[in-house]
Amino acid sequence: MATKRDYYEILGVNKSASADEIKRAYRKLAMQHHPDKHGGDDTKFKEIGEAYEVLKDQQKRTAYDQFGHAGAQGNPFGGAGGPGAGGFGGFNGAEGFDFSDILNQFMGGQQQSRGPARGRDLEVAIAIDFMEAVTGVEKEISLSLDDICEHCGGNGAEPGTKLKTCPTCNGQGQVRRVQQTILGAIQQVSTCHTCDGRGQVPEKACTVCHGSGVMRRHKAITVKIPAGIDDGATMRLSGKGGAPKGGGPKGDLYVQIRVRADKRFERHGANIHSQATVAMAEAALGTEVPVETVDGSVTLKIPAGTQSGKVFKLSNHGMPDIHGRGRGDHLVIVTVETPTKLSGRQRELLEEFAAEGGKKGFFRR
Ligand SMILES: [Zn+2]
Ligand SMILES: [Zn+2]
Repeated sequence: MATKRDYYEILGVNKSASADEIKRAYRKLAMQHHPDKHGGDDTKFKEIGEAYEVLKDQQKRTAYDQFGHAGAQGNPFGGAGGPGAGGFGGFNGAEGFDFSDILNQFMGGQQQSRGPARGRDLEVAIAIDFMEAVTGVEKEISLSLDDICEHCGGNGAEPGTKLKTCPTCNGQGQVRRVQQTILGAIQQVSTCHTCDGRGQVPEKACTVCHGSGVMRRHKAITVKIPAGIDDGATMRLSGKGGAPKGGGPKGDLYVQIRVRADKRFERHGANIHSQATVAMAEAALGTEVPVETVDGSVTLKIPAGTQSGKVFKLSNHGMPDIHGRGRGDHLVIVTVETPTKLSGRQRELLEEFAAEGGKKGFFRR
């Protein structure tokens, strides 16, 4: 990474400059060095712009103050293709040091609001039949999760007793510690483990959950699976996940859907494919065959002269759209079967047929 001038130095302000002072300094310098102006300087103008871009934003400025140029330009501040981003990559590798970790901790500290954490997200997979995917189905799943303690209602205090300020974090919900890194001293903020971020602890812990506010329970949850769901799709059930310790919003439940194969049908997007076999003579003369669709049996007319591989469409017998916008089609792929065992009579007839011009060349006009 090329050595860069200090942003405060570029704008000619000191480190304690107010937002207003920075703005005024920027405007003055930008006018002075504007490239459209006589005696303007493009390089200087860009440098001023870059410095202002960082210092005008309180979050970027704080990061810059702590980490220097890397802090202001590294992910997530720099955005895609920021000049500092690439340069820092080599640095990571050489030192075995993940800058983004520190930055994330830093960001976490800045953005973390006080109060309890959110509950855990859970993930389960359930298998349904092909026909259930066509019609939609309700499934009950049983899971073991952290649920709100019924005795204390989730706050962890024995009913009739109060909560008091957490002695570890003095009600802040967070603890701060200073860590020495190669970028200098970094203040880390993490959730207080005594109160799990609540800032309060029970005077007398709940006798059922021992103050955690949660209880491990088996719970049956009904999942409404919409018609048209595809194999591998994941549904998110908001707020159906685990409860956090000490109360707070529950996590989400992610349900992955596996659709069992059906030997009659094959799904291709919105369409359903199936196979039909007709005898050689039937294909030549024309016939009707019953075709199983997800809506029941349908009669398919095979016209005279149908070739093997021909696809017939049964409109609106495919998969329903998951958002209720119509249905796909059912496509029938026809295979013409050539007889492998002939009786004496059949052989005679076919030989006669061939002699009548029913050879391969007959069809070429
Ligand atoms: Zn605490
Ligand atoms: Zn309890």
